[in-house]
Amino acid sequence: MPHYDWIIQGGHVIDPKQGIDQLMDLAILKGRIAAVEMAIEKGQARECFDAQGMIVTPGLIDLHIHGYPHVTPLGIDVDHYCLGRGVTTAVDAGSAGCDTFPGFRHFAVQPIRTRLLAFLHISRAGLAFSTRTGNDDPGELESKKLVNASDCVECIEANRDLIVGVKIRLSSSIADQGRNEAFSYQAAQEAAADVSLPLMVHHNFSSVSMEDCPGKMKEGDLYTHCFHGYPNTVLKPQDLQLLACVAQARRDGVLFDVGHGMGSFAWPVAEACIAQGFWPDTISTDLHSLNHEGPVYDLPTVMSRLWQAGMPLQEVIRASTLNPARAIGWADRIGTLEIGREADITVLERNRDPLELEDCHAQLRTLPQRLVPAAVWRNGEPFPITHPKRLPNPECYPSALEWRSKLVVSDPPSGSPPPPRPSGT
Ligand SMILES: [Zn+2]
Repeated sequence: MPHYDWIIQGGHVIDPKQGIDQLMDLAILKGRIAAVEMAIEKGQARECFDAQGMIVTPGLIDLHIHGYPHVTPLGIDVDHYCLGRGVTTAVDAGSAGCDTFPGFRHFAVQPIRTRLLAFLHISRAGLAFSTRTGNDDPGELESKKLVNASDCVECIEANRDLIVGVKIRLSSSIADQGRNEAFSYQAAQEAAADVSLPLMVHHNFSSVSMEDCPGKMKEGDLYTHCFHGYPNTVLKPQDLQLLACVAQARRDGVLFDVGHGMGSFAWPVAEACIAQGFWPDTISTDLHSLNHEGPVYDLPTVMSRLWQAGMPLQEVIRASTLNPARAIGWADRIGTLEIGREADITVLERNRDPLELEDCHAQLRTLPQRLVPAAVWRNGEPFPITHPKRLPNPECYPSALEWRSKLVVSDPPSGSPPPPRPSGT
């Protein structure tokens, strides 16, 4: 009689929580991780997955996605773009506010297989009528009447099983030309402090200074979109050195999250930060309906970009498993392959076909290798892997180029000498 439901055999297991970084076998029984050993006999399980040559990790966690389709214009099919790419837990970054959260639980969370959690937007409408910042559409902070810290707190208290923090977007274009930004930022900080949960902040083209954000964020708060090249970038554009207030914020315990998105990942910013030892704490996609078929694609593609930019593979995996679990206070449930945990497991292939890959501005790098999802189990059950329609997808280059002129840190025009590389610290 087979003892286990599944064995994942011969893979290179990387589990930063347990300090595992070697070839091992894994067994699943009744939805839980039942064994992690040097060798488990094939005959002991009903089914076996051969992971030879592959990397086996705790189920990936994407800390910033938009997963409230049909109700918000940015919403995506979460199972297709998250679980199908190896992400067993996704955290929605503010698609719902207190007035729209009941629908989020009912229509977004309950019907899907991906574990979906949420940061609650400080705007009571969430992103119901908002898309990307910087356009002429109305934004979620256009009126101060949309912001109420105590209603936000009340909603969080009633939904602590799903809500893991508060979200705000600080961009002048969505806040009555900046007039409501400081007010809303303060309300979001008050709400987060009241419930003792982190505040996730999006901050670009904002009237709020870097000294106030991330400068006045609290320990455990998340500064997302940390590698964008627009005004409010974390680097001094002249010499690509990290801003002193950003380095201080990290020392104060503020967490820096990638939140790649449609405009928030620039190769030269990521490379300069990583060369100075400023790795992101968490790697996330900001997947939404305008970037899911490029330039983001999925979390393994974003992880591959950080690997390419100089972050060691083990750290890339830590920032996509253990660190996000800790950031949302869920490290006792997810982010590791410890025996007895729910069996959320991801298998990644190391694809060694060189690939020319764009950032958000059609700036290109040639990746000698990258991570591609090969298999995934959520709560012990496998889910079919899905693939981007095209990767890379030049169809998204024209809109990417549109925003390139707004960059303060970018690749030099082709033919000119490379930019100065900052010295490591
Ligand atoms: Zn977002």
